[in-house]
This record gives sequence, structure tokens and C-alpha cells, in this order.
Amino acid sequence: MPAKCPICAKPVAVDYRPFCSRRCADVDLQRWLVGRYAIPAARDDEDGDDPGSPRSLGGDFEA
Ligand SMILES: [Zn+2]
Repeated sequence: MPAKCPICAKPVAVDYRPFCSRRCADVDLQRWLVGRYAIPAARDDEDGDDPGSPRSLGGDFEA
């Protein structure tokens, strides 16, 4: 029984577990990132007093 992709419910591909494709893996990553930055109550800022700094966004995306 193949597992289903949590994004689109298609059968999971071994290369992209637990997703069916790189596209769905990217979708999940985006959701995770959005959720991470959308939690207003979570103030575990290790850097302290500069919540508006964009430097934590990084530059790893090559779309
Ligand atoms: Zn999928």
C-alpha cells in the first residue's frame, strides 16, 4: 500500500517521500515557511530586539 501525498493525495514517489513530486515537496515547504512566519505569539527570538530584520529570510531559493 503506497502512502498518499499529503498535498494532493496521489501515491508517494520514493524519490520525493513523503510527497509525490518535487512540486508537492516545494508546496509543503512553502506552507511550512509561511506558517513559521505567521505565528504572532511565538516570540522565541534568539536575536532579541530586531523583529523587523529581513536577514533571516536568507537566499537559498532558486526557483
Ligand atoms: Zn502530491
